[in-house]
Amino acid sequence: MPLPHRALAPEALGPTITVGEILVEIMATTVGAGFLEPQSLIGPYPSGAPAIFVDQVARMGGGAGIVASVGDDDFGRLNVDRLRADGVDVSAIAVSKDWPTGSAFVRYRPDGARDFVFNIARSAAGRIRPTPAAEDLVRRAGHLHVMGTALSIPGARDVILSAIEIVRARGGSVSLDPNLRKELLTDSGVLECFDQVVGVADLLLPSGEELFATAGLTDEATAIAKLLESGIGEIVLKRGEQGASFFGHGLPRIDCAAFAVDEVDPTGAGDCFGAAYLTCRRKGMTPEAALLHANAAGARNVTRRGPMEGVSTLAELTAFIAETPRR
Ligand code: ATP
Ligand code: MG
Repeated sequence: MPLPHRALAPEALGPTITVGEILVEIMATTVGAGFLEPQSLIGPYPSGAPAIFVDQVARMGGGAGIVASVGDDDFGRLNVDRLRADGVDVSAIAVSKDWPTGSAFVRYRPDGARDFVFNIARSAAGRIRPTPAAEDLVRRAGHLHVMGTALSIPGARDVILSAIEIVRARGGSVSLDPNLRKELLTDSGVLECFDQVVGVADLLLPSGEELFATAGLTDEATAIAKLLESGIGEIVLKRGEQGASFFGHGLPRIDCAAFAVDEVDPTGAGDCFGAAYLTCRRKGMTPEAALLHANAAGARNVTRRGPMEGVSTLAELTAFIAETPRR
């Protein structure tokens, strides 16, 4: 018997919250492989997949909050100031006296692949843990979004697993962006927790390879069918410059062509996409309308350098949809 699937909780139940790394991103200004020689860099930019996600939720007018940890330094202040200014509840961001804010150095290769140097585990971000402020935010939340990257932080896993219980007990919903990064798959606890989140997710937001890894299958249609059968309510597959597709129960598949834009910096597209899709759904839009707005949010983000520099308001998305041709 297939499990019953559940709908996403409406905006009125409480804010969308997430848990995980706040980082600064420092980017190589040239294309090439890695960081083995001196080179020119640009940054710091506010970053961290959960932070980009939650900033995009807030910019669209959704209730938004994050459980995180930064250092008592400019990298931390740069991030917290941006999130607060964009309307994110920053009350559950701890400020560590002992650990610096996390960072990610990124360089693009000619084929578009990325090399990273992360400082997360031994930064303030790696110190995320249950706190009274985090519990207070979780108890008010209507939806928990889980970013796969955050699962590499042991204390964040504790917060996420307890938040799943609390949010679901009050009728809230859960989404998962697998966001698997080879550099972050560090211990067996990550995969165990990942499977637990897959087991309760109401919405899954994978990209292609992540869909296969999540389902343990290598054929798209079979992987989607298996995950829907397991009880996931909706699956939105991100296809980069090929756009995205929606799969749900009792609804036909919906394909959405990408907008034709010049890609300047793809980092953050998936996070903005997921935030826009979820926020539109929580505000009552149909899957089709949410998918269109999500495609617009992803496309708009890649036209700006810096992962959080291209987040969009609803008005900006509406204008972008009206004026931008599709691929
Ligand atoms: P990441 O995890 O690196 O942020 P992702 O793999 O999760 O990214 P992508 O598929 O790269 O997600 O991008 C998400 C969405 O953003 C796509 O489904 C598409 O709608 C939009 N998008 C991304 N890149 C482009 C592009 N070059 N042109 C137009 N739209 C794009
Ligand atoms: Mg992603």
